[in-house]
Amino acid sequence: MTIFEKAQQLFNKSVAGVIDNDDMDLIINWPHDQMSVLFACADQLRRNYFGSTVDPCSIMNIKSGGCSEDCAYCSQSSHNKASVEIRELASPEEIISQAIKSFENNLIFSVVSSGRKLSRKNLQIVVDALKQCPGEKHASLGILDEDELRILVEAGVVCYHHNIETSRSHYPKIVTTHTWEDRVETVRRAKKVGLRVCCGGILGLGETWEQRKEFCIQIRDLQVDSIPLNFLNAIPGTRVNAPDDSPLDFLKVVSLFRIVMPDRPVRICGGREVHLGPLQPLLFYAGANGYISGGYLTTGGAGVDNDDIMIQSLGLKKRMQ
Ligand code: SF4
Repeated sequence: MTIFEKAQQLFNKSVAGVIDNDDMDLIINWPHDQMSVLFACADQLRRNYFGSTVDPCSIMNIKSGGCSEDCAYCSQSSHNKASVEIRELASPEEIISQAIKSFENNLIFSVVSSGRKLSRKNLQIVVDALKQCPGEKHASLGILDEDELRILVEAGVVCYHHNIETSRSHYPKIVTTHTWEDRVETVRRAKKVGLRVCCGGILGLGETWEQRKEFCIQIRDLQVDSIPLNFLNAIPGTRVNAPDDSPLDFLKVVSLFRIVMPDRPVRICGGREVHLGPLQPLLFYAGANGYISGGYLTTGGAGVDNDDIMIQSLGLKKRMQ
């Protein structure tokens, strides 16, 4: 079979929902000098399900640093030595003002807080603010119980963001203060109360390609509504090393997720500027159809204007808010 026929077969199997372990191995072992053929498959799948529309979002770090959890990669963990600003809960005015800015830039707005979970008192403050925010609202506030998640639904939040971060087998090497299963349970609770779920993780945490495949299968099995992928941006003072993956390695992971889950939004988040540099536009040919715009939790991004130029230059358009 030629490489073109292999790509065509992957496309057909992806659309039919029958991608198997051998197909995933084929993608993982795809030669770097033939990536344009893999991208053609992933790009056509993206176009098949999402046309020329991309779905960017923005996040606001509403409570920063001082976290009790020991996530090895996170600059906000009090177990790490990264220098990060510790900030108590943002005021309702700050939250509303940021939401308006996101709305004006045609970006979904999501509030994100550090910590195992937001306290009930702070949750109520955030919910009262969110009720006054325009546009589509998402939240990422930790390991909430069902009642707390329902409070978000009542406030008009439509999607809960909670990553499983990495494969089940790799997770204990990265976090010990809570389990991978704790994260999965939160995802299940959010789905149960009627929230859409945005759930993915971080590539480059020292996981093997086999564990990347495991992670991808676990995300598929959770049947989440949106898949955020980060490429580790190793912050000094955290307990992880910078990954040695090439830009094409990370782009290959994007294609893997697109081909395994052709109809799910794949959003590229932190690390795209750092790891892909001038190859960032290839993300969309690799199959991504979403991204975070305007900066991340503790690091800056390319900026909304630059992202908009990239999208327009590719002939893509942002989903209207
Ligand atoms: S990833 Fe979240 S839970 Fe883990 S240390 Fe950072 S803020 Fe805390």
